[in-house]
Amino acid sequence: MFKALLLQQEGKETVASLCELEDSHLPEGDVTVAVEYSTLNYKDSLAITGRAPVVRTWPMVPGIDFAGTVLESGDARFKKGERVILNGWGVGETRWGGLAQKARVPASFLVSMPKSLTSRQAMAIGTAGYTAMLCVQALERTGVRPGDGEVLVTGANGGVGGFAITILARRGYRIVASTGRMDEAQRLRDLGAADVISRDTLSEKGKPLQKERWAGVVDSVGGHTLANACASTRYGGVVAACGLAQSMDFPATVAPFILRGVTLVGVDSVNAPYERRLAAWEQLAHDLDAAAIAGVADQEVGLDRCVELAGELLAGRVKGRVIVNPNL
Ligand code: NDP
Repeated sequence: MFKALLLQQEGKETVASLCELEDSHLPEGDVTVAVEYSTLNYKDSLAITGRAPVVRTWPMVPGIDFAGTVLESGDARFKKGERVILNGWGVGETRWGGLAQKARVPASFLVSMPKSLTSRQAMAIGTAGYTAMLCVQALERTGVRPGDGEVLVTGANGGVGGFAITILARRGYRIVASTGRMDEAQRLRDLGAADVISRDTLSEKGKPLQKERWAGVVDSVGGHTLANACASTRYGGVVAACGLAQSMDFPATVAPFILRGVTLVGVDSVNAPYERRLAAWEQLAHDLDAAAIAGVADQEVGLDRCVELAGELLAGRVKGRVIVNPNL
């Protein structure tokens, strides 16, 4: 038997309950993992509250990421006792996910955990940190370097934003953090932001081309914020877009792209190829020490708190990351 958060559909409602399930309920897959930690992501909160159609098959164990130890493996790539990480691949959406004490997945979904990380640290980083690293690597792959100028990070008090600041600061960038929570400005400075601006300066409709400021942007917000970020990116600069916390819309013009050669790079963590995942996790393990990881993730809860915190997270009242310990 194992404990899991289970989502069921009753009419149009999503109902979440903490259940004891039998191992025979686990889906098919090559590798069974004892989940040591998972996290509560924005997407998990949408799934748990039923606020958006994240869940595609019912019943569903939510949780788009987990870290743990292999219990059984039918694949030569992973042996019993090996420590592994999972991010994405539709887990917690179309396949049972990490908000449980056990998970079973295809071996191709897993990445070996870097030796320097504990399971708790891997999930303190979680999909947010992994996505932030994919964004930073996208900026650097497209030519952005620390000497080029300021990098804007939007949604700064969120999981992706916090890790983007931490990673960029450690790589020598000058970061400007945009947030709706100016009372948390000192926390963002402590993470490494040189300057903190109110998200109101970016969140309303703006001109197609604005004063050139950013050498790079990590945007987890979308909407007018992303459009304004593109409009104020310097000639040849790069914008990495990964999220939609403000809006899925992109109410922009082509002006920044055709007149300033700005590059807009889309970042997807869910189906990112294995080599990119591995490179991101290796760089995270290299760049982030225990203090840096603890600086972003400061809250550990059991499965029983996930429903309550999902609503709080969507209301923008959770700062940093929530780590979930299914064995609490
Ligand atoms: P969080 O909920 O932790 O953070 C989101 C942040 O966005 C908030 O903390 C807030 O920051 C800001 N925000 C919220 N509402 C608004 C608004 N109306 N206008 C402007 N800013 C707003 O989420 P995550 O950091 O985990 O994820 C951020 C986004 O990235 C989500 O949309 C998520 O779905 C997406 N994502 C995408 C991935 C991918 O593979 N492409 C992977 C992971 C996440 P502040 O308080 O500082 O203003």
